[in-house]
Amino acid sequence: MLNLVLFGPPGAGKGTQADFLIEKFELTHLSTGDLLRSEIAANTPLGLEAKKYMDKGELVPDEVVIGMIGNKLEANKEVKGFIFDGFPRTVAQAEALDNLLNGNGMPVSGMLCLEVEKQELIDRLLTRGKTSGRSDDQDESIIENRIQVYHEKTSPLKDYYLAQDKQYSIDGMGTIEEIAERLSETVNKL
Ligand code: AMP
Repeated sequence: MLNLVLFGPPGAGKGTQADFLIEKFELTHLSTGDLLRSEIAANTPLGLEAKKYMDKGELVPDEVVIGMIGNKLEANKEVKGFIFDGFPRTVAQAEALDNLLNGNGMPVSGMLCLEVEKQELIDRLLTRGKTSGRSDDQDESIIENRIQVYHEKTSPLKDYYLAQDKQYSIDGMGTIEEIAERLSETVNKL
């Protein structure tokens, strides 16, 4: 089984590259951001609670996202592998993911971190905000907060995966095709 964690700050291109990796390596996509937005669209209690955090660019509580991922893993036992996009975002989430996957004998194969300069992230998110309908992509102060939260709470996970010898930094600047090629080369070695 190939289990990839696609990692990087907001605007790094995780969603775009996930689409490519899913097709090439026949993986099942699990994006906590997409799952949360579906809950919001369906007006569920979970969605309404999560929206309060997402609108501010803050992280949704760990137990909420861990519960969602646990359910999805349980419901997709026969797949070739997963690509985790936007999850884990905290050490507690990474530990929970390890527990869930190791319990089933299918550990994380590698964590691929897309490295992109800050101004490029802001430009990409503001451009996406014009068409995505996502309010958190339209306000520069919320974008700044999401990047700040990434540096404070999420980027320490690089050390978490480095300690397991599973962390790979990928240059996330350039064209979509160039970045996809760099990711492929790394995934082929896993
Ligand atoms: P994304 O689509 O990955 O950019 O996520 C959009 C928003 O959803 C984030 O700013 C968070 O508020 C929330 N979110 C998504 N994934 C997670 C996660 N793993 N942990 C906590 N909050 C999350």
